[in-house]
Amino acid sequence: MRKIVLASNNAGKLVEFNALLGTLGFDVTPQGALGIAEAEEPYATFVENALTKARHASRASGLPALADDSGICVHALGGAPGVYSARYAQLVGGPKSDAANNARLVRELAGKADRGAHYVCVLVYVRHADDPQPIIAEGNWFGEVIDTPRGDGGFGYDPYFLLPDLGKTAAELTKAEKNSVSHRAQALAQLVERLRTFENA
Ligand code: IMP
Repeated sequence: MRKIVLASNNAGKLVEFNALLGTLGFDVTPQGALGIAEAEEPYATFVENALTKARHASRASGLPALADDSGICVHALGGAPGVYSARYAQLVGGPKSDAANNARLVRELAGKADRGAHYVCVLVYVRHADDPQPIIAEGNWFGEVIDTPRGDGGFGYDPYFLLPDLGKTAAELTKAEKNSVSHRAQALAQLVERLRTFENA
């Protein structure tokens, strides 16, 4: 098994990443287990934040590293909250909570006809801290923002994120359903495909 570091301490992500990357011979360890502190995420784009986190974890550990950055982009809001999804309410003096973030989102969309949005997940893998060709994968999951929450699964914006084809919000899907179609699942599948390209070269 080849050991790589995950630039996140999220237990759910670790399980997902290990399950898929394990089949490729990777053993994924969270950076916290190696005593590595979280990097800042100062940038305005997902890819820059993921890249800086991956480089930081790789430099600190001396191992290949994988990082992700994700959020929700709302079309009528020019892609906001985007990279600020986790702290959308905080930007206007509110608390750091899912409830406050969702309340702000509903408020910002009041009176707007276009309810389109997508979740995005960007994954960046670096073989070493100065890797000139990071492997970058991206997943996009399209839906609509609704005003009234539905379902109690998932997290974050899920109760307000409607999948019109399924007639359900992301919070009404089972964990397995969400994990098979989500932005993270799509990005991970693309990452595996890209890693395979280099394995076979
Ligand atoms: P992070 O990339 O895990 O830090 O996620 C950033 C933020 O994007 C989260 O705090 C949520 O607000 C939002 N987000 C990302 N993925 C999801 C999801 O699958 N469901 C709901 N919210 C999400």
